[in-house]
Amino acid sequence: MEFDLIARIRSRADASRADVVLGIGDDAALLAPPPGQHLVVAMDTLNAGVHFPAGTAPADIGWKALAVNLSDLAAMGATPAWCTLSLSLPAGDDGFVDGFLDGFLVLASAHGVALVGGDTTRGPLSACVTAHGFVAPGCALRRAGAGVGDDVWVSGTLGDAAAALAQWQAGGAIDPMLHARLDRPTPRVALGLALRGIASACIDVSDGLLADLGHLCLASGVGAEVEVEALPASTALVAAFDAQARRGLQATGGDDYELCFSAPPGRREAIAAMPGTTRIGRIVADAGVRAMTSAGAPWQPVHAGYQHFA
Ligand code: ADP
Ligand code: MG
Repeated sequence: MEFDLIARIRSRADASRADVVLGIGDDAALLAPPPGQHLVVAMDTLNAGVHFPAGTAPADIGWKALAVNLSDLAAMGATPAWCTLSLSLPAGDDGFVDGFLDGFLVLASAHGVALVGGDTTRGPLSACVTAHGFVAPGCALRRAGAGVGDDVWVSGTLGDAAAALAQWQAGGAIDPMLHARLDRPTPRVALGLALRGIASACIDVSDGLLADLGHLCLASGVGAEVEVEALPASTALVAAFDAQARRGLQATGGDDYELCFSAPPGRREAIAAMPGTTRIGRIVADAGVRAMTSAGAPWQPVHAGYQHFA
């Protein structure tokens, strides 16, 4: 039966990339990386009951399983190319694959990414994806590299996915726009590419802005000050939560998959011209991340850290 499943996956996978010498169907894939480029590899797993609620639509799980990996490539400034997929499926759940691929492959094709292989096993529902991309040597965006005096920027809006989760946990209606941000995050691939040679450090926001900016600062040997009132908010978030709850979600909520990056002030104009970028703070010498109000008073989140829905 796994043969049948693999045949279904293979029949739907796009085989049009010229650098895929051999895709699904042999013992391994044969791939032709562009000469002189670094290969960038990321892997992330989504487990049922941990990373998504049991009732999540298969297409949304498929989208997100790839999106979180493309977000990691985006944060490195890489051009995505290929991916592999390890699927663990409960017995009797084969119909799941078709829905899963609906979401997975629409995102893959939007980014020209070829599914070149994987593994299919029986077990608790889980999807593990690796994504492969390219970057010219020396051009990758790393967590290390932020300098004192650099600006701190973020893409898109923050807290939407966490807001949807909060509404879900409260048992009420979930705003459709917030729900879409939770189920179908947008990997900021084009922005990551545009930031090469401009950003001094970059990370994608998966565990909450303050936590992930903390990782960037630790790797760079610096600290950061962030102005909570400057954090970008969607209209749906503003409509659904009061200012205090909203700022907590924006500063600490997980699953945003936006890019947080630093850049010298001389790059302000270039970055501001990139769609959806917001300047939220600055890099300082003192270690740690400090959130503050626009008046300069220290600000504490109402609830700290990222909590999975479970
Ligand atoms: P093997 O026993 O050599 O590991 P498999 O039966 O696991 O072979 O896989 C056969 C082919 O199907 C391989 O090319 C593998 O990469 C591909 N494949 C298996 N599962 C998946 C999947 N979930 N997604 C994409 N390709 C898959
Ligand atoms: Mg195998």
